[in-house]
Amino acid sequence: MKEKCNKYEILTNFGTEEELLSHISQCEDCQNEHNKMLAVSKLIQEAKPYYLKQREKIKKMKIACVMLFTFFSGTAFGVLDTNYKIIDTLSYNDGVTFEDMGFPTDEYGFIMVD
Ligand SMILES: [Zn+2]
Repeated sequence: MKEKCNKYEILTNFGTEEELLSHISQCEDCQNEHNKMLAVSKLIQEAKPYYLKQREKIKKMKIACVMLFTFFSGTAFGVLDTNYKIIDTLSYNDGVTFEDMGFPTDEYGFIMVD
């Protein structure tokens, strides 16, 4: 049984283009190998625009996420920054008291129970 020619790999890596093409014109194994490579290369060229489009979409999505995050965090911190009542409520629990709700309370704000 005839062994498969392995010069294609050697010539593509280390040979010149003329050496490769002249060998391909004489050798059937390398001709087949070369056709496979051309097919793969063509596939890559066809897929390239879709791949680039996909990457562009991901990039736009990232920018949108950053803008959204900046907007929301800016709004949240802005509200906290300008509205001290909210900060007081959050920090000191100084919002609505039992007295405000109409319960009878003592001087500490606790509900009075007889
Ligand atoms: Zn060959």
